[in-house]
Amino acid sequence: MGRLLWVDLSERSIQEEPLEEEVRRNFTGGYGLGARMIYSHQKAGVDPLGPENILGILTGPCSGTPAIAGSRFMVVGKSPLTATWGDSDCGGYFGPELKFAGFDGVFFSGISDRPVYLLVENGKAELRDASHLWGKDTTETDERLKADLGKKVQIACIGPAGERLSLVSCVMHDRGRAAGRSGFGALMGSKKLKAVVARGDMKVPIADEARLRDLRKRYLAQLKESERAKLRQQYGTCAWLTGLVEVNDTPIRNWSGVGPIDFPTAERISDENVIKYEVKKYACYRCPIACGGHMKVTTGPYAAAGHKPEYETLASFGAMTLNDNVESIIKLNDLCNRAGLDTISAGSAIAFAMECYEKGLITDGDTEGIELRWGNAEAIVVMVEKMAKREGFGDVLADGVKVAAGRIGRGSEEFAVHCAGQEPGMHDPKYWPGLGMSYQLDATPGRHGQGGHWMEGFPDWWKRSLGVEDIPAGPNRHDYAGKGEAFKRAACMLHFIHSSGLCRFPWYHMDPASMWEFVSAVTGWRIEGEEAYRIGERIANIRQAFNIREGFNALEHAIHPRVVGLPPLREGPTSGITVDMDILLQDFLKAMEWDLVTGRPSRKRLIELGLKDVPKDLW
Ligand code: SF4
Repeated sequence: MGRLLWVDLSERSIQEEPLEEEVRRNFTGGYGLGARMIYSHQKAGVDPLGPENILGILTGPCSGTPAIAGSRFMVVGKSPLTATWGDSDCGGYFGPELKFAGFDGVFFSGISDRPVYLLVENGKAELRDASHLWGKDTTETDERLKADLGKKVQIACIGPAGERLSLVSCVMHDRGRAAGRSGFGALMGSKKLKAVVARGDMKVPIADEARLRDLRKRYLAQLKESERAKLRQQYGTCAWLTGLVEVNDTPIRNWSGVGPIDFPTAERISDENVIKYEVKKYACYRCPIACGGHMKVTTGPYAAAGHKPEYETLASFGAMTLNDNVESIIKLNDLCNRAGLDTISAGSAIAFAMECYEKGLITDGDTEGIELRWGNAEAIVVMVEKMAKREGFGDVLADGVKVAAGRIGRGSEEFAVHCAGQEPGMHDPKYWPGLGMSYQLDATPGRHGQGGHWMEGFPDWWKRSLGVEDIPAGPNRHDYAGKGEAFKRAACMLHFIHSSGLCRFPWYHMDPASMWEFVSAVTGWRIEGEEAYRIGERIANIRQAFNIREGFNALEHAIHPRVVGLPPLREGPTSGITVDMDILLQDFLKAMEWDLVTGRPSRKRLIELGLKDVPKDLW
C-alpha cells in the first residue's frame, strides 16, 4: 500500500509515512521491514515495557493478495520476555484487512494514560477509548468490537494476561489465532493498547494480475496432487504428534523423558482423537489448505468450545506434562486463547512446576493445595486459570520458567528449560541437531520455526532447487559438521518467505520457486532465488545487529543441557546423543560471516548487504 502509520500513544498523535520502494525491496515487509525500521528509530537499551520500546504490527507484500496463503501479519519489537529482538507471526484475516484499510504496517511508541484501541479504516486512523474493553478476554473483546463496529472488522487484541503484563502473553486474532512468541501481549499491555482494529475496501495494488492468476492456478494444482498437503488439510498440525513422540522429537516430561517409554499413550492426543471434536474446518485468507478447526467438548469437566489445538499446544500441555486427556487440552487451548497466553510457554511453565513439585522443591503450601503431579489434567487447568489472573502460584509462573525459577529458588533453576528466557518450541535438537543452532543463535531465541533443519525430510528435487540439499538427512542427520552454509541458506530463505506475508505450510507442498514468483507478480520486482536468499541474509543481519547493539551475545546463553543431550538419554530413539553445539554454532557463524566469539556481523558483509549505517554501532 506504500504507507506506514506511526502512533505516539503518549501524545495521542498519528502520522503517516510513505514506505520507500528501496526499503521495501531490500527488506520485503513483515519482520524484515520491522527490524529495519525499529533499528533506525529506537536507541539501544530501552526498557522493554517502557514508552520508548516501539511495537510494530506489519504485513508483507503478499498479505491480502491472491497469492496462496497471503494471510500473515507480524508483531515485532524488543521482546519483553528475552530483552532481545522479538518477532512473531500470525495468520487469519487481520493482515489482509490492514492492507484493505490502506496500510502496510503500524508502529506504536509511548504509553497511553488510559486504555485505547486503534481503528484503521480506508486510509484513516483514530485512537478510541477502550476502557469498556479492559479486563475482557479476547473472545469478549472480539464480540464487543464487532457488535459496536460491524462484523467485517478484523481485530488483533490482548487478553487479561497481556493487561497484567505476563511476559508469556501474546497478541490474539479471531479468538484463536496467536502471534504467540516473544511476550508481545505484555508490550501492548504496557502501552494500554487493547486492540488494533482494521476495516477497509481499498485494493491492494498488484503489478501483474494475469501472472498472479496463472501462478495461483498452477500451484493450486500442485497442492491438489500432494498427499502431505491432504494430510495437513485433514488434520492440521495435530497429524504428527504420535509419530514425533515415537522418534523422540516431541519433548516429554519437561524435556527429561523418552517418548515411547514415558508417554506411550500419545495417540490419545493426536490425529483422529483430536479431530473427532472438530465441528467445522476453517481457512486463513485465500488458503486452500484450511488447517484450522472449531472444536466442541459438550460435556464433562472440560466442556469448551474453541479452536483446534496445534501440535505445539498438544505437546506442551500433553507430552510435556504427561497429560493424555485430550478434552483437557482443548479446554486449556481455549483458556490460553481467551487470556492471551502463549501455549508453548504456558505449558512449559506448568511442566517445570510439576517437576519442581514431584521433586519436593515446591509443596502444597506453595501451590495452595493444587497437586501438580505428572498427568494431573485437573491441576493443569486450575493452574492456567491462575496464571491468567496472576493469582497465587499462578503469579509465580506467569512470566515463564526463567523468571519462575528465580522466584522459587531452592535449586529449581536446574529444571528451568529455556533459551535466553524463552521456552523452546516443542521439537528436540537431539532428533534435529540443526534446531539447536537456531534455538540458541536465532535473534529470537528458542524459535522452532526458524532455521530450516526440518527441510531434511523433503524430496531431493525440492531441496536442490532451494540449494539446501546439504542439510544432513535421515540416518545421516547427525553428520552435521561443515553444514553451516546449508543451514544459513535455509534460514535466510525462511526470513524472506516469512517477511513476504505468506504462510510457509502450503509452500512445503509446492515448488520452492513459488514464493519468489508470487512476490514478483505482486510487486513487479522480478525476484529470483538468489535475490530472495540475499534479502533473507540482510534480514538476518539487521536482526542480529539489533541484539549485538543491545549488548546481547547469544553465544553467552547456552541452551539448557537437557535439550542437547547433556547428559545423553540412556534409552529410546535418541539415546546416547549429545548435540555438538560448538560445531553447529561455529559452522553457522562462519557461513554468516559473524564473529566466532562475539557474534558481531562482519563490517565487510554488512556493507555488501547495504547495511552501511550498522557497522559504526557494532565495531
Ligand atoms: S496452511 Fe493453515 S495456517 Fe497456513 S494459511 Fe493455510 S489455513 Fe492458515
